[in-house]
Amino acid sequence: MNRKPLFIAADLYGCPNRCLHCWLGRMQSRPMEKGADEWIVSRFRPYFDTITFFSWLREPDFCPDYREQWERDQKLSVNAAPPRFELGSFWRLVRDPEYAAFLKEAGVSCVQLTFFGTEETTDRYVGRKGAFRELLKATEILLDHEISPRWQIFINEENKEEIPLLLKLSEELDLQRRCRAFGGTFRFFVHSGSCEGENRKLYSVRICKDHIPGELIPYFYNYDALRPEKEWCGLWKEDPSHVIPHNTEDIVLYVANNYDLFFNFTHMRPEWRIGNLKRDSMDELVRRITEEDIPALREAGRITLGELVRLYGDSESEKAFEEEDYRIYLLNIHLERLYARQEQGPQ
Ligand code: SF4
Repeated sequence: MNRKPLFIAADLYGCPNRCLHCWLGRMQSRPMEKGADEWIVSRFRPYFDTITFFSWLREPDFCPDYREQWERDQKLSVNAAPPRFELGSFWRLVRDPEYAAFLKEAGVSCVQLTFFGTEETTDRYVGRKGAFRELLKATEILLDHEISPRWQIFINEENKEEIPLLLKLSEELDLQRRCRAFGGTFRFFVHSGSCEGENRKLYSVRICKDHIPGELIPYFYNYDALRPEKEWCGLWKEDPSHVIPHNTEDIVLYVANNYDLFFNFTHMRPEWRIGNLKRDSMDELVRRITEEDIPALREAGRITLGELVRLYGDSESEKAFEEEDYRIYLLNIHLERLYARQEQGPQ
């Protein structure tokens, strides 16, 4: 029996959005079969003492019976109770008059809402016409229920002029004062996100540190940790260490809607697949999980950071990265190319 707590997040229902920055990667949205949640947990129960189960890994509460499903998640968890995060479904908030009250009952005091600029840009990045207006409406619904909205803003070279307008809009809406009125806090923060999943495709418009509008710097998450790509390349070009993601305190697994299994280290692409819950033996899957023995991690332990920089880094680039984001970005390029070559087979 494994003593490390296990967290399982299964993509039981999918997501109404198709965000251009989605770090998980583009996946088909379709519900898993009835009873999939119970079946998934039953597969792990003989191996782990503590299991926390989440029926979502993309949009929380994106199912009509979200209340019952939340109760099921709690019942299915073993020696643990799934926490609520500062997350919710803005899709549901504007469509379901009961939903905000449910969030409140479930103890949610803040919900994050994600913007990508003004109306046209946000709609395009979320992948749904009307998304921007829904986010504003969701903000009002949350306030009406004394839940603080938190505006998360993704910035890049394409939308950087629009982000100060969002800051101004949040001031015009007087969100800080309105949250304080019920003891809440409005938070506005900006970042460029990691560079994996769909966001990797936005590498060409990744923001340069010098191009971040000055008025946004106080709101930029981890601003001081950002460095231009060329600096990371200079620092690491001879680095003999390896980029190996690792589970420390607990194990977090994602289950895709086809039962493919992934660690939560990065995007859910084939090269990171641990195996498949329907097809592979549980003994073998648990061995791979606990020993962290999958081809991607073996390769990560073989290639050095210096080699990754020399192969894939751009020593002229001003694009801004945080350390961990740049390391995993390099490793992912390598794994993706290696996997593509293996898929093609011998030429
Ligand atoms: S970022 Fe979140 S809301 Fe957007 S597509 Fe991905 S999972 Fe859905």
